[in-house]
Amino acid sequence: MGESRGKKAIIIFGPPGAGKGTQASRLIEELKLVAIATGDILREAVAKGSPLGVKAAEYMTRGELVPDEVMIPIVEEKLSEDRGDNGFLLDGFPRTVRQATMLDDAARKNGVKIDKAIYLKTSKDVIIQRLSGRRVCPNCGAVYHVENIPPKVEGVCDTCGTALVQREDDREEAIVRRLVEYEKQTTDVIRYYRKKGILVEVNGDLRIEVSYPMIVKTLGGENCS
Ligand code: AMP
Repeated sequence: MGESRGKKAIIIFGPPGAGKGTQASRLIEELKLVAIATGDILREAVAKGSPLGVKAAEYMTRGELVPDEVMIPIVEEKLSEDRGDNGFLLDGFPRTVRQATMLDDAARKNGVKIDKAIYLKTSKDVIIQRLSGRRVCPNCGAVYHVENIPPKVEGVCDTCGTALVQREDDREEAIVRRLVEYEKQTTDVIRYYRKKGILVEVNGDLRIEVSYPMIVKTLGGENCS
């Protein structure tokens, strides 16, 4: 079974604040893609306390990458599942060139073609504006923005009335640190996919109503066989 089922995988990546989460969930729903979101998979494993979760937790709490030896089997297993006829959407993986080459091998083994790598290129000012204005409800998890999506009453959750908070890592100094870290990790990955000719840069500064249709158009584009 399975050398040439003609399945495709799309990669989506971009810095924190690029709107990746929102774009990814829309793509999954509308295009019926199977999500492979490594951050979510790991968080779920940590919550369950599974052997994977125990291993991953120590790295995650330090904000470090979980070792490739742990990550690759997770992604490989997902790619080999008998789903994904409409395609897979990889979110949070690969983060390094080593992961990108390992992904190529895993995809080849499972008859999956890495079709496009969508990079949400976003400027520092926009990222800082989006993240530093973000407020979250510590009770129900609802997300707001002081300017873009304000709650009805300032500082209070519309859904449950709890006082909103700012995440520690959404403060300006922490954002700048996260961006430096992100750039260190991904510059080479961007180069890797550009060289392969499958990198698609989308302007992450634009509002999602504008950038989302651009992505969808790209995915229906000439490279699809
Ligand atoms: P994320 O939600 O994608 O920001 O991921 C949260 C955390 O999970 C990261 O800070 C890493 O510790 C871990 N993680 C997620 N994806 C990967 C990956 N591809 N390689 C290594 N660690 C990862």
